[in-house]
Amino acid sequence: MAKNSSRPVGRHFLQIPGPTPVPDRVLRAMDTPVIDHRGPEFAKLAKRCLEGIKTIFKTTNPVIIYTATGTGAWEGALVNTLSPGDRVLMVETGQFASLWKKMAEKLGLKPEFITSDWRNGADPKAIEAKLREDKGKEIKAVCVLHNETSTGALTPIAEIRKAIDAAGHPALLMVDTISSLASADYRHDEWGVDVSVGGAQKGLMMPPGMSFNAISDKALAANKTSKLPKSFWAWDEMLAMNKVGFFPYTPGTQMLHGLAAGIDMLHEEGLDNVFARHERLAEATRRAVKAWGLENLNKNASQYSPTITAILLPEGHDADAFRAQALERFNISYGASFGAYAGKYFRIGHLGDINDGTLIGALGITELALQLANVPVKKGGVQAAMDYLASAHSAAAKQAAE
Ligand SMILES: *Cc1c(COP(=O)(O)O)cnc(C)c1O
Repeated sequence: MAKNSSRPVGRHFLQIPGPTPVPDRVLRAMDTPVIDHRGPEFAKLAKRCLEGIKTIFKTTNPVIIYTATGTGAWEGALVNTLSPGDRVLMVETGQFASLWKKMAEKLGLKPEFITSDWRNGADPKAIEAKLREDKGKEIKAVCVLHNETSTGALTPIAEIRKAIDAAGHPALLMVDTISSLASADYRHDEWGVDVSVGGAQKGLMMPPGMSFNAISDKALAANKTSKLPKSFWAWDEMLAMNKVGFFPYTPGTQMLHGLAAGIDMLHEEGLDNVFARHERLAEATRRAVKAWGLENLNKNASQYSPTITAILLPEGHDADAFRAQALERFNISYGASFGAYAGKYFRIGHLGDINDGTLIGALGITELALQLANVPVKKGGVQAAMDYLASAHSAAAKQAAE
């Protein structure tokens, strides 16, 4: 018998916070002949997607669909609304916020960074204070992440809106909701967001390669005077073509088939049920972490992410080596760690097409892998997670019966 099998048996546990496992129904929807992107069948598909995606962002305004990953939609948000040398206020919640800030610099903007220790989401009070200092109203945009995927912190966007209004500041509010859209409640219109940036491969359960800009009237007005160069990312041509069901260039046709299926699935489950499921699985994960005696990277319990949990390993244990070992032994992928914490934590993604059974499996593997890696953990993490899931399900059943 061979010592090591090179074939991983069973299904892979893709527990990274995006890309997330793509449901068979989405894959089947994409497995269809490519159609003419200027034909009538395409226009029907495009209109279905363009209308459907509005219900996910909770907006009545148009949403731009880019054939690009989330990073492209970051660029779309900035270049369509701002001009060279514009000041923007950004918040260092973690790795993704830092990357968006770097992009702003490369584009010739002047970002001001509210720094942090990566163990919190954005603080509305700090944003309000910075805006109050800006007497000349030179800051043109406030850019925050709804969910910081690198650390597991969810920022309350309604409170950020309130902070901007309390300061009486006219800056645009731009929000990255790439790893929270279709997993956590998100309200583009109600929260007064000017540009919301979304992506396909997280809560929307699609492969990577599609991203979004949801746009307010104020952002559309800013677009008219914005001077940063833009061509592929330009909203105006896209909006004009979308009106009749087409795109200025060949869009990812198969991705649109997948998007239509994903949106249907989200509405069949019911968005509120989708959000409750993510909350439940996230809390179960945190119960397991606590029972193991490990520490959550995010120290702010009021800002725990419903989609990803970052778990610190004790001093002297290499999280990257742990991930590599778990992958080899148990066919599971975890998210990596970044910045000052590189090698110190790993992340469990619990978003997208994932149910209680998937999570229990992933947590079981994790408990096993931690023991085998000689990380000093207490047993009973999976039991704690299941106890919580049992209580959450019976509470929900009781509520439904009332
Ligand atoms: C995944 C992610 C991105 C980057 O998106 P890509 O699709 O990798 O380009 C940006 N922001 C957040 C919050 C993310 O989770």
